[in-house]
Amino acid sequence: MSKLICTAAIRGAHKIVKQAEEKLREAIDSKGKGAKVEFPDTGYYLPIIYSATALKVKTLEDCEEALGYARALLPPIPEEKIYLPYLGCALDAGIATLYAEEIIEACKYLIGPNPVEGIWLGASTDVILRERGIEFVDGTAPGFAAVVGAAPTNEIAVQIARELQEKNLYVFISANTNGKSFAEQLDEEGVQLGWETRLIPFGKSITSTIYSLGFANKAALSFGGIAPADFTKNLIYNKNRIFAFVMALGEVDDEKYANAAAAINYGFPTIADTDIPAILPTGVCTYEHVVPLIPHDKIVEKCIEVRGLKVAVAKVDIPVSYGAAFEGERIRKDDMQIEIGGPGTPAFEYVVMRDNSEIEDGKIEVIGPDIDEMEQGPGKPLGVYIEVSGRKMQDEFESIFERRTHHFLGEAQGFFHMGQRDIIRHRISKDAYNKGFRLHHIGKIIHSKYHEEYGALLDKVQVTLYTIKEDVEKKLDEVKAAFAVRDERALGMTDASVNIFYSCTLCQSFAPSHVCIISPERSGLCGAVSWLDGKAGYEITPTGPNQPIEKGKLIDEKLGLWEGTNEFLYQSSNKEFDQVSMYSMVTHPMTSCGCFECISAMLPMTNGIMTVDRDFTGMTPCGMKFSTLAGTVGGGIQTPGFVGHSKFYMSSSKFISGDGGLARQVWMPKQLKDEIGDAISEAAEEAGLEDFLSKIADETIAQTEEEVLEYMQKVNHPALAMEPMF
Ligand code: SF4
Ligand code: ZN
Repeated sequence: MSKLICTAAIRGAHKIVKQAEEKLREAIDSKGKGAKVEFPDTGYYLPIIYSATALKVKTLEDCEEALGYARALLPPIPEEKIYLPYLGCALDAGIATLYAEEIIEACKYLIGPNPVEGIWLGASTDVILRERGIEFVDGTAPGFAAVVGAAPTNEIAVQIARELQEKNLYVFISANTNGKSFAEQLDEEGVQLGWETRLIPFGKSITSTIYSLGFANKAALSFGGIAPADFTKNLIYNKNRIFAFVMALGEVDDEKYANAAAAINYGFPTIADTDIPAILPTGVCTYEHVVPLIPHDKIVEKCIEVRGLKVAVAKVDIPVSYGAAFEGERIRKDDMQIEIGGPGTPAFEYVVMRDNSEIEDGKIEVIGPDIDEMEQGPGKPLGVYIEVSGRKMQDEFESIFERRTHHFLGEAQGFFHMGQRDIIRHRISKDAYNKGFRLHHIGKIIHSKYHEEYGALLDKVQVTLYTIKEDVEKKLDEVKAAFAVRDERALGMTDASVNIFYSCTLCQSFAPSHVCIISPERSGLCGAVSWLDGKAGYEITPTGPNQPIEKGKLIDEKLGLWEGTNEFLYQSSNKEFDQVSMYSMVTHPMTSCGCFECISAMLPMTNGIMTVDRDFTGMTPCGMKFSTLAGTVGGGIQTPGFVGHSKFYMSSSKFISGDGGLARQVWMPKQLKDEIGDAISEAAEEAGLEDFLSKIADETIAQTEEEVLEYMQKVNHPALAMEPMF
């Protein structure tokens, strides 16, 4: 059976390589060999070529070299009659196809047609890779589906997309069938496309399939710390850790065969709705390689089975779809039935711990009118009053549950959740309303998700929803007082006030030697795990990624070195590292995986440091963009002079306190300054630094290290008078 697909794949590869030759010639003719080519905002060049060969394609001339590699891989087209017993040559043809396609797409960025157009997004930036990569790490996204072609009807397309979304999969969309693409079908039906909803339209041509596979390669480089040119390792990493598959909809031509063959190299099987030759015996993929003729109502299930994916899907009993992909769905004014909260409208979400005897599990009460008794429109008051109890419950966890409620509710299709505590603003869509969604479903979601995620801590969950303005206001007094007490308590918590820190090793699935050590004053570098989260995580799953770490004997107070933390790191980094300073980025800094919100780097000339967050894509004074820095720092290693960390950590009194603390801060992007400036000012004041925020340069003030230094001299920056960092 496999000879047909091999022949077709090789034929397809030849066609695409030829296409690349033509496109490249066209580009060189119009721009010259020296013209620069790049995908936007990435430190990985053309990621597949870079992963496979370490060649950094920066110019059209480099493209010529890369195309040479593609040609070298191309097997001759076998005669129709000859039987090819092995997949091998088709696999090579697949890789040649990918090189050629990357060159074609790169040329498109240079001479057009621009891959970013209309609904099409083109290459994913490194910002997106990091943001989304963490979801592959922590399992919120079990994998991705590369959908190629188009469904026979728009309805079927929508049905397949919804099913994939409900399984929390990312859907990478490319190519077309007879001029129609799956993404266009969804768009025509008003389905919201984009990274927020996990439906990503890369491009309409088959060559844009490289954006899916390139994403996988980049994940391996970035999170797996796999070196460029170690392509075998990269592919094995993908086979073992990135659960992806190709769903081929509609006719499969030679070019699509070539891409399917390429995907097999990654361990990604192809499942098709048409009658294409099957490749059943296993070898590269976990199970079958190519499975044809699957009916549309079974195809998602089949894909998941063939790829060997384990998808745990929450069963939430509500009349709308439910899953993480729906969290990013916006609801426009015209589409909303009601808006809850917002300026001038009292509303809140509040979790409080009770005794087991005080509440009734599953009791959900709406006090006041429900949506069908409300006028359509904004300004609806709502109090979501959640009472929980359980033998292992602690009042410290109330805030964690509250924060998570944002995700739990947002994941209902047609429910747009914004804010938390007493500043909330939610929208419920007309569509959800028409499907029967009512306020008591909010209680249902909370009840079932709390049990699902926090079952180890909770026995009972009871939800009361207040919709009468006076009731909400009355309850708000109680709720605000409780928030004040809680904030007070959190403020009092310092590293010195506890004997136990918590680990997070969640990212080891991607960066095997990485360990976040989380203290009250230093959260995990992704910004998503605080000390309290670590504590709750441990209570929920005692054998999970959050383990208590007894600090043990103090070795160096200034650097934040303890015997207990060192020993823990040694054991859990697979004996890669034996020392970690909690408070230094110079001496044994903490390891960095790839999820850091920010990276700090020394600027030797200034005697200080710069910090850049992942939303800033411009050049920084250290001569590297965030993406390049991330490549240097990430992968689970310690890099003296550099460290990845959360935004929160910057306003902590323990922020690189072993190296001189906040006073070292000399540059950060303006946007980040605006975002966390207040917290930094407060921390600076506490550290005795006057008018400090204005002394930190940003890209509007200084772009090079020299310019930063100049500015520092002008404003008399305190770092100038500090002792050398090293
Ligand atoms: Fe990964 Fe650290 Fe965040 Fe845990 S705390 S998810 S290990 S970055
Ligand atoms: Zn990570």
